[in-house]
Amino acid sequence: MADTVVKITELVKRYKDLIALDHLSLEIEKGEIFGLLGPNGSGKTTTINCLLALLSFDKGRVEIFGKEMTPTSYDIKREIGIIMQNVAVFDELTVYDNIDYFCGLYISDKEKRRQYVEEAIRFVGLEDFTKFYPKKLSGGLLRRLNIACGIAHKPKLIILDEPTVAVDPQSRNKILEGIEQLNRDGATIIYTSHYMEEVEQICTRIAIMDKGRKVAEGTKEELKKMIKNTETITVEVREMGDGVLAQISELPHVYLAEYNDDILKVACSGGKHNLIRILGVLQDHNLHIGRVYSELPTLNDVFLEITGKALRDKED
Ligand code: ADP
Ligand code: MG
Repeated sequence: MADTVVKITELVKRYKDLIALDHLSLEIEKGEIFGLLGPNGSGKTTTINCLLALLSFDKGRVEIFGKEMTPTSYDIKREIGIIMQNVAVFDELTVYDNIDYFCGLYISDKEKRRQYVEEAIRFVGLEDFTKFYPKKLSGGLLRRLNIACGIAHKPKLIILDEPTVAVDPQSRNKILEGIEQLNRDGATIIYTSHYMEEVEQICTRIAIMDKGRKVAEGTKEELKKMIKNTETITVEVREMGDGVLAQISELPHVYLAEYNDDILKVACSGGKHNLIRILGVLQDHNLHIGRVYSELPTLNDVFLEITGKALRDKED
């Protein structure tokens, strides 16, 4: 009980007719990297804003560090670092002065603050840009500045809302590694994203959201166990006829078989020897087999199975 950092109970948030949060409950324990995964519009940012008491809600309760969170809970707020989805820095301040400003909201001792600001700069790798103004920074560097501003005061709870959207792979890796480092240094993390690979990579526990509701929750292993798709086998095979596809569809454990552009994709639920059986059918028909590989389910498969739609668009 003492180790629950965030407790959200039956939260309801309406925007006029739209129910943005529909009786959402979450409990986040000390030391977790908790992932809120959901497509755009599923209510992740609304959850964060309600959690921080930046937004009023219609029903429910939020407790942080065991105390009710209200708009004037300044003692709680000073222990929280917030990295918003939309970068919020001052254009007229340099990188250094931006971080110094945000850190200064919490740390008044000048020497300590200088040390904290410099640590934050090193942490996000902005040493060469301290005198730059935000407008001169690339998207990735700007995101890193946004993060430095949120974490410089060494908060116990750090909330990052889609911190890697539209950043280059180098900054993205730096950000993900940084989050893991902050967690190792003792911070509890809440991380929202619609990128399942990232959530899978760094989160200790994940809640999947859709239309303001929590549709599933658990470790990535637990989530994957919930679905029947446990193995997707892909085979490159030329000129395979419909009869062969039908025969593969009939194999035990196979619940979906597709053949497009010389690629056979077979989704299997549990069972052993799936691959051998499939290859056996292809060999019986003297088909030429190219590359063959087998993949375990992703969180996208979990989302697809629960909600009937993909987590994100193909072009995303
Ligand atoms: P996410 O962060 O997961 O993309 P949001 O929390 O931003 O989702 O939005 C959840 C739902 O609430 C969406 O349908 C969105 O259009 C709606 N919404 C968000 N902010 C507002 C607002 N200020 N006024 C009206 N509707 C809003
Ligand atoms: Mg959002």
